[in-house]
Amino acid sequence: MIDVSMWETLEEMQPNVLKMLKNSIQKGRLAHAYLFEGMRGTGKKEISLLLSKSLFCTNPIEGYIPCETCHNCKRINSGNHPDIHVVEPDGASIKKHQIQSLQEEFSKTGVESKRKVYTIVHADRMTVNAANSLLKFLEEPTAETTAILLTEQAQQILPTILSRCQIVTFKHLSPDHLIQKLIEKGVSEKKAPIIAQLTNNLDEGLLLSNDEWFAQAQSIVVKLYEVLRKNPLEALVALQENWFLHFKEKEQIDQGLDLVLLILKDLLYIQLGKQNQAVYLDESSRLEQFALQTSGQRLAHQMTAVLDAKRKLHANMNPQLLMEQLVLELQEGSTFV
Ligand SMILES: [Zn+2]
Repeated sequence: MIDVSMWETLEEMQPNVLKMLKNSIQKGRLAHAYLFEGMRGTGKKEISLLLSKSLFCTNPIEGYIPCETCHNCKRINSGNHPDIHVVEPDGASIKKHQIQSLQEEFSKTGVESKRKVYTIVHADRMTVNAANSLLKFLEEPTAETTAILLTEQAQQILPTILSRCQIVTFKHLSPDHLIQKLIEKGVSEKKAPIIAQLTNNLDEGLLLSNDEWFAQAQSIVVKLYEVLRKNPLEALVALQENWFLHFKEKEQIDQGLDLVLLILKDLLYIQLGKQNQAVYLDESSRLEQFALQTSGQRLAHQMTAVLDAKRKLHANMNPQLLMEQLVLELQEGSTFV
């Protein structure tokens, strides 16, 4: 049985990327290193896997579409191909020893062929030492090695690494498209818009829609906003009693900050009379009340503060300190105009 559905699905998502890869494979002109950059859920990891299969498949359709049924395709799908390596952050970062063991692996000749592919997920999270090790590796490419670096934050990658990669930009998918798909899959019309703001990926969206943690996260964030409007002390208490118990890992805090940002955006939309663009539909009546008590200028200032906190989070600032600073920042000038 021939299954081209994976290629077709991903082609629908990222037509330009797949067209470029198809041309490169057909002409035998693959780069030694690619940097796939784009938002979460835009298909970077899936397409890196697809490219690996295209290169190793023993029976590719039209020379480039992996057959999905041969021994190699199956092993790649189950993460068991000896010549394909995936490096992911070990905790918060990708460390030097991870890149070194990759290099050791690659200094052996290919277990089954000479060709080897490695993928580095969240390449922006490499420590400086890890990045420098990788750089040496990229400087000495061998003909049959392909590196694929994935990132949501290309601006955080060393320029020396960027300059050795072919940069492939993954386009942002339209939230409307995803909202439609989520609703088709049974997600309620009230929940779908907020989910579509946080991910670009249908499967991830479906997971979020059933995730109790995520449901609680939304109400904690609304509560935090509510108490922010009262006094600084109470907000700091709320941080300790609710926020820190719920948002523990860096990715969770990041998502919490995204939710704060969405509330502020909603308030702005409501003030501008664009209620139809708001996404916090479960809370719309409360947010309409809040919107009456703040100003556009203040909301803009608060959004800047949240974006700044996200940036600090990725620069590994202590989350406790970061959130306390943010709360104080959000409250600055809290006599409402
Ligand atoms: Zn195959």
